Amino acid sequence: MPEAPKILSDSADCIDDIVVENNNKVLKFIEDVTADADEVQRRVLSEILSRSANVEYLQRYGLNGCTDRETFKKVIPVVTYEDLKPDIERIANGDTSPILCSQPISEFLTSSGTSAGERKLMPTIEEELGRRSLLYSLLMPVMSQFLPGLDKGKGMYFLFVKSEAKTPGGLVARPVLTSYYKSSHFKNRPNDPYTNYTSPKETILCLDSYQSMYSQLLCGLFQNEDVVRVGAVFASGFIRAIQFLEKHWSLLCKDIRTGTIDSKITDPSVREAVMKILKPNPKLADFVEAECSKGSWKGIITRLWPETKYIDVIVTGTMSQYIPALDYYSNALPLVCTMYASSECYFGINLNPLCNPSEVSYTLIPNMAYFEFLPVTRKDELTGSISEPTALNDKEKQQLVDLVDVKLGQDYELVVTTYAGLYRYHVGDILRVSGFKNKAPQFNFICRKNVVLSIDSDKTDEVELQNAVKNAANQLLQYEASLVEYTGYADTSAIPGRYVLFWELSVKDSTLIAPAVFEDCCFTVEESLNSVYRQGRVCDKSIGPLEIRVVENGTFDMLMDFALSQGSSINQYKTPRCVKYAPIIELLNSRVISSYFSPKCPRWTAGHKQWCTQN
Ligand code: AMP
Repeated sequence: MPEAPKILSDSADCIDDIVVENNNKVLKFIEDVTADADEVQRRVLSEILSRSANVEYLQRYGLNGCTDRETFKKVIPVVTYEDLKPDIERIANGDTSPILCSQPISEFLTSSGTSAGERKLMPTIEEELGRRSLLYSLLMPVMSQFLPGLDKGKGMYFLFVKSEAKTPGGLVARPVLTSYYKSSHFKNRPNDPYTNYTSPKETILCLDSYQSMYSQLLCGLFQNEDVVRVGAVFASGFIRAIQFLEKHWSLLCKDIRTGTIDSKITDPSVREAVMKILKPNPKLADFVEAECSKGSWKGIITRLWPETKYIDVIVTGTMSQYIPALDYYSNALPLVCTMYASSECYFGINLNPLCNPSEVSYTLIPNMAYFEFLPVTRKDELTGSISEPTALNDKEKQQLVDLVDVKLGQDYELVVTTYAGLYRYHVGDILRVSGFKNKAPQFNFICRKNVVLSIDSDKTDEVELQNAVKNAANQLLQYEASLVEYTGYADTSAIPGRYVLFWELSVKDSTLIAPAVFEDCCFTVEESLNSVYRQGRVCDKSIGPLEIRVVENGTFDMLMDFALSQGSSINQYKTPRCVKYAPIIELLNSRVISSYFSPKCPRWTAGHKQWCTQN
């Protein structure tokens, strides 16, 4: 993620000195909060609880205004979104009493994690924007320790907003980055050398994804020699930009040649902002055209933006599937994961940003929230699934570990208490302790709990997939066919990636089932998947049509034999609902009889389904 420390005054003689001074201040801040991590955590919890002493939620559990860790841990339960849903729904429906937080809920941040197929709603308060800005402000001073000169060039970042909705009670509900880009913290950020982006804010704030992408690429290409770093939030977004360039470079070159902007870009504010930058440049147009029309796109990033020093994208977690493509397009430029954040709270930063993607660890910044950790064990290396240790009983589960008490090498599930009204809330991420910065632990991101399939920001869990597949497979019953077994995988070998499901059927006469029936099954699965998946299909076009591959009878027995040969226990073997391991995918692919694609996009509307009917 881009963003930077604030330059306090630009009237000083030497901007370089200010940058250095500001960087040093930020690095000192990191030293201090990590050295004093436990005390900072104590203060954060006490501050949250004293401010929220009057809120209904804490009173319900009898906290009685206590602000110490011991009482808090004794009386307040560890919860999931489902536990909070009734309270969140009251707020969404317009109850403005202090239910979760003493400060007014300013909006809901819509998480990519879902509940009953809809985005989870995370309450937030105005001051959280400041906390997010603070985390952003740490990134460039850290980066600059490793790569000097970043203040001398521009960042080409592909950043986008998504549509927003209103809850029945009138609160805005939108993704956290949309909220941030639309805030004055981003729009009116002071000029400084680290916030020098090629994309004018109007191009980022344009809701039409084609116009936004086209105009951001046009500005990025036009300023190609100034660009020293490129990026997007997630790797999938950056790859999408490169793929867009593959499709549209000739139109973009025409605009660069003539200094005009294509008529498909109709948003007046985007046109005006781009026209302030664009001038006719036939030489640059020739150069871009020559590079793009060469047969291979290997190294296209360094060819078109020759001064680029790194790609700033998240490639941890499921995004690691895009590393080979990024290496190919960039001739293996460093891939830099700078931060770890969510709608609930921004968590931490990577203090060693040039490390290998497989070694990325995030240092949680102790003053962002109060953090606790539930120990978990890894269950199945083959499918990557995670389980809580069976030895933990309910009482022990409440005794979570504090930030400074986590153990090196141990896996934990992250639990947060935030300024915005979440108390001991399961985020759903599994982290492994990889080291310490002073007293503050550093974590590898291991995975999101229960997620089986993900292409972009979609996170489909096992239950959602199971229900979607069941809905679709029901359609086969009328043809005297039934689903024996299934599994899935996220195929990102082409962009956009897509969900592939392998189905083994029991069927009386397969000639009775027309291809359209299976296509309908693909569509029914998509219609049954969660709102984030459907938005990716419909709106962002970041996910391609779902595919069902029917495999020969006996394939899933072979899969079990394979797992057993790799050391799985026969008593515990369950068909994995997602596969990632290349030899297994190869085995499944070698047994495919036929394959079918979803013929159309599923339905999607902004906001929760029930709001549309209520509004
Ligand atoms: P959302 O609630 O939609 O903002 O998504 C937040 C989730 O995205 C986190 O809880 C993680 O599961 C995932 N995420 C965010 N940052 C990272 C990161 N740096 N590496 C891996 N996953 C991440």
